[in-house]
Amino acid sequence: MTNAPTTAGNAAPALIDHWINHSINHWINGAETAPAHDRRGEVYNPATGKVTGRVALATPEEVDAAVAAALAAFEDWSATPPHVRARVLFRFRDLVERHRDRLAAIITAEHGKVFDDARGEVTRGLEVVEFACGVPQLLKGEFSEAVGRGVDATTLRQPLGVVAGITPFNFPAMVPMWMFPIAIATGNTFVLKPSEKDPTLGIELARLLKEAGLPDGVFNVVNGDKVAVDALLRHPDVEAISFVGSTPVAEYVHTTAASYGKRVQALGGAKNHMVVMPDADLDQAVGALMGAAYGSAGERCMAISVVVPVGEDTADRLRRKLVAALAELKVGDGMREGVEMGPLVTGDHRAKVLGYLDVAAEEGAEIVVDGRKEGGRPEGDEGFFVGGSLLDHVGPGMRVYREEIFGPVLSIVRAETFAQALTLVNEHEFGNGTAIFTRDGNTARTFVSKVRAGMVGVNVPIPAPMAFHSFGGWKRSLFGDHHVHGPEGVRFYTRGKAVTVRWPGDAAITTDFAMPTHG
Ligand code: NAD
Repeated sequence: MTNAPTTAGNAAPALIDHWINHSINHWINGAETAPAHDRRGEVYNPATGKVTGRVALATPEEVDAAVAAALAAFEDWSATPPHVRARVLFRFRDLVERHRDRLAAIITAEHGKVFDDARGEVTRGLEVVEFACGVPQLLKGEFSEAVGRGVDATTLRQPLGVVAGITPFNFPAMVPMWMFPIAIATGNTFVLKPSEKDPTLGIELARLLKEAGLPDGVFNVVNGDKVAVDALLRHPDVEAISFVGSTPVAEYVHTTAASYGKRVQALGGAKNHMVVMPDADLDQAVGALMGAAYGSAGERCMAISVVVPVGEDTADRLRRKLVAALAELKVGDGMREGVEMGPLVTGDHRAKVLGYLDVAAEEGAEIVVDGRKEGGRPEGDEGFFVGGSLLDHVGPGMRVYREEIFGPVLSIVRAETFAQALTLVNEHEFGNGTAIFTRDGNTARTFVSKVRAGMVGVNVPIPAPMAFHSFGGWKRSLFGDHHVHGPEGVRFYTRGKAVTVRWPGDAAITTDFAMPTHG
């Protein structure tokens, strides 16, 4: 298959064999911290369906301890020169690279995505670390000489204080790394609340930061669920919240944290459309769709879940090619050589995705390839597998069209014209990413200009921006003003200060600063 979801082509490192009910605790003030209670959640290996870990679910008191450690570390860390802070990140960058395969194996063991995809995730996170290493340049202020006679003006950007990141299961390395490298590079201290479904990476990153020389308390991890999230949203010493997850929770986090006076960026769910024009290179489009719809079992916020072929002939040809490609899709344990798509993250999530396939049938969509049976569960596997699924004749009124399924289910929604396709994309409540496949420059240009989404690809199915640009959606895919990483990340984690200066002693200077007029 062309351009399929990434495969486990390299020799995978040995499985994490000590993981039988291992405990995943917190990381507070530079050390792993076991909870004083037994409130824990179960963590699974999705490929086997077996419990591999038990994660601590923090109480508000444990959140207090993490925030207190971060607050205590803030004064010294924020006063550390930016180029000295950057040196810690340079060392961290090298350490993550050295440990990349082990980190990727942990991701595969708890999330289920194939090993090469997990390695790619670590790399995308590292790119943000590399961007954050340039923090002395990123924090350079502005200066205007002589805004009045003998008066100069300058603007600075300063850190906020303690900031928190609340992250989803689908990128346990990359999404935290969208946040904390820039937050700590700009002088903040950080509390991470990872997803309770695949929490081990958070602690592993904390260990590597410590090894890189990060002072204790600058980076803390509290594992947990809604109890920990609520404690962070309401905490008087937390200045800002970065959230990535589903839309209902993003909206709740945004509203709640803002009502407690915090700065908030909350990235939510998605339903990303790819428009395929009659003149598109269909083989290229199908290769791209196989990766974008079925890679990581569709558990990506930038996954393409709707394809909109323009014209019946385009739709029929595309459908034939997709069916042929799906017949070749290799589903299985992501650590196995040659596997292209792993399981879903949990049994509950599998049940939800299977439920959507039932709904599709009830709503009158055509199930062209049915992941409930074809390739759904490789023989002998007890894991949370669903086969790659294809729906056709899906309409805008159907639940399978309106709602985010977050599984390996691609819907074909047929459009007669480009204008109809564009309207469809624009009328959807989500606006994260979108793409158009065409050879026509004018059509592409109109699409880029008119489409209501935060990230747009032209013959590129997953237009996730590089670390030095910013990532974020529109409409109900983002609550708040700031996108993550890149220049908007730096702005989010700093606030501006304007300073106007004159020095006494020059008799010729008569500038008068009495408000409201400057003489
Ligand atoms: P989720 O919303 O269930 O969980 C995200 C975080 O919120 C987790 O840390 C979880 O513990 C916490 N949480 C869950 N329910 C909560 C509640 N009721 N109150 C307070 N906190 C709660 O999301 P998920 O299932 O982990 O991740 C998948 C979702 O994330 C998808 O919707 C996907 O589109 C979205 N996502 C979006 C982006 C983006 O950039 N827009 C990126 C990655 C994932």
